[in-house]
Amino acid sequence: MSYSLRNYQKELIRNIINSMKKGHKKIMVQSPPRSGKTVVMAHIAKSATDQGKQVLFFSHRKEINEQVAETFIRGGVNISQVVIGTVGSLVRKLESLPPPDLILVDEAHHIKAKQYQTILKFFDKAIQLFFTGTPIRLDGAGFHDLADDLVVGKSIQWLQKHGNIAEFDYYSVNLLDMAKLKKRSGEFTNGSVDAALDFNTEYGDYLDHYERLAKGKQAIVYTHSVEYAERVAKRFSEHGYKSAVVSGKTPRNEREGAMRAFREGRLMIMVNVNLFTEGIDLPGVDVCIMLRPTASLSLYLQFAMRALNPREGKRAILIDHVGNHLRHGLPNDDREWTLDGTKKKKKESEKSPVTCERCFATFWRERLKDGHCPYCGNEVVKKKEIEELERPQSNVELQKINQDMEFINIRGESVEVTRAEAIVFHRVERYGKQYKRCKNLAELKAFRIIHGYAPGWLWHKQKELNIWRN
Ligand SMILES: [Zn+2]
Repeated sequence: MSYSLRNYQKELIRNIINSMKKGHKKIMVQSPPRSGKTVVMAHIAKSATDQGKQVLFFSHRKEINEQVAETFIRGGVNISQVVIGTVGSLVRKLESLPPPDLILVDEAHHIKAKQYQTILKFFDKAIQLFFTGTPIRLDGAGFHDLADDLVVGKSIQWLQKHGNIAEFDYYSVNLLDMAKLKKRSGEFTNGSVDAALDFNTEYGDYLDHYERLAKGKQAIVYTHSVEYAERVAKRFSEHGYKSAVVSGKTPRNEREGAMRAFREGRLMIMVNVNLFTEGIDLPGVDVCIMLRPTASLSLYLQFAMRALNPREGKRAILIDHVGNHLRHGLPNDDREWTLDGTKKKKKESEKSPVTCERCFATFWRERLKDGHCPYCGNEVVKKKEIEELERPQSNVELQKINQDMEFINIRGESVEVTRAEAIVFHRVERYGKQYKRCKNLAELKAFRIIHGYAPGWLWHKQKELNIWRN
């Protein structure tokens, strides 16, 4: 049996074949998460094995390889002519592998890494197809040196418009002390994420916001560490939402048990630490909660799009507690892919995201109705406040970076904020030392940061002033 391909998948395959006909042998293939890359690979692998050719597939994760093996078998690939392995295991036994005619790599934005290069160079004569949703590297450099062509698939917006990926509402409620994040090798360190999250976990806003926005719906939560995930799962469970933690280290049978319980609705919240689930069918998940900040666009899109399986009339709910959209834009932003590395498409101002201070909905500016939030009707953009923003004041200095992202400088530290948050900072700065003038949680948080008070200060003042809402 083989899969019936969707039209856009057939088009992608045609474009890959056309590139090969032009003589390209190393081709980067871009196609977004949830667009069915694995099915496309299975189709290509089947044509190859039907012609008696030898195929090598690899990625850096065993979960991906398990899914690919299943998809290949169901897709009618002659599996006796295929080797599937992780980069780490293959690199040690290159001499003993049958030389492949075709190499398929998934999550191929990693191919610059040394072990990938060792394998790819060893089998230099093979046709090499590099699949990824995000053909960019963490350091922003391109792939010109490694690939001789780029084939670009349909955009997320196109897939949404044609019913292949669900529409979503995006909410941004920041629970992170962003100034505490530190990077190593391009990604935020676990230690710094711990520190940055500590700020707020004692009263765990994420539960409030889940109940406000998605109560009773199945959700997948992304976290940075098993320890933190356990805390999150415990908290949800204690409030009546049955939860489980799955991680890259969870044994396969346990993992599959959790997935099954989730599919059958016996589990409400799945807290994920570093487990790749892109190819797993979880049709009931309509909610994604991000508690893990990431500098990787690839990870961000995997998180955000996990809940976007389409269904008639569905709108998914994405809740970003860690400012990921500030780093990467909204999941369905227009992105221009080239082999030259990151080249951010210049955004028209209508497509720059704004966040409503009342309901936290985050959407492109073009959806504003006369300056008001399309979700709750709150006035998002006041003419007067925007004028105030143009005039930076004493020790809170505004530095405009671009339309979606701003840095404010507080006591020498740069803090990344949304435009809406910047407005709050400027307002609160004028209160001087009078914290009692703070009218809501957002203002109190800003007050704490401006004055450099310890995180515990916030909790005490919240109780004193009885302020619980933003
Ligand atoms: Zn609103």
